[in-house]
Amino acid sequence: MSFAASVLTLYPEMFPGALGLSLAGRALEAGTWSLEAIQIRDFATDKHRTVDDTPAGGGAGMVMRADVLARAVDHASPPDDPRPRLLMSPRGKPLTQARVRELAAGPGAVILCGRFEGVDQRLIEARGLEEVSIGDFILSGGEPAALVLLDAVVRLLPGVMGNAVSGEEESFENGLLEHPHYTRPQEFEGRQIPDVLISGNHKKIAEWRRAEAEKLTRERRPDLLAADQPLVK
Ligand code: SAH
Repeated sequence: MSFAASVLTLYPEMFPGALGLSLAGRALEAGTWSLEAIQIRDFATDKHRTVDDTPAGGGAGMVMRADVLARAVDHASPPDDPRPRLLMSPRGKPLTQARVRELAAGPGAVILCGRFEGVDQRLIEARGLEEVSIGDFILSGGEPAALVLLDAVVRLLPGVMGNAVSGEEESFENGLLEHPHYTRPQEFEGRQIPDVLISGNHKKIAEWRRAEAEKLTRERRPDLLAADQPLVK
């Protein structure tokens, strides 16, 4: 069973975009996952195909209309659709590797990309949308966020990554940032590869990598060490 992504957007031309290349692109061609980009504007009913209107209560910008979005969501995802319905949103729960793993283990995702000031709150409630943020910054639209989320999910689908082991040692997978990497040449501008890595002693190498990962995490992301929950269940 392959992972089915339906993306609701005002810019379907942005998809598959970067996901049409490399690992994700090959997996898309191979049918490991599928991607449908749906034009929200097709669900407008007036002759100008209007999808937004001025905010109730006044203020700057425009808000995406609940009625138009509801028709688009219902078309992409009928009530018995088992896939989670996500709304890319800076107000959402920050995306984690744990959530990415859950999504990758499921049937797919329906992803709504916001534009302008965002979407009418009643649509979020009426269609039970899960708001997902990719970080504490503001994008001009949900499309790049959807591409980020799908990239993270697709690389975890069975058969997508060449060397499956590499996924398990990555940053966040064990609650730590990853250790530094080195490759040839042995000397670069006077800098050597740490001796232990060319010692051939696998136990020592594992200990060194673990210690470096802990040091880096303490320095850069002490919040990860403090987290009372493991990042991956
Ligand atoms: N006025 C909103 C920001 C709107 S940005 C606010 O202050 O919260 C326009 C759209 O871009 C949003 O509807 C959302 O779909 C997307 N977006 C912006 N930043 C995002 C982020 N950090 N994560 C996920 N989606 C984001």
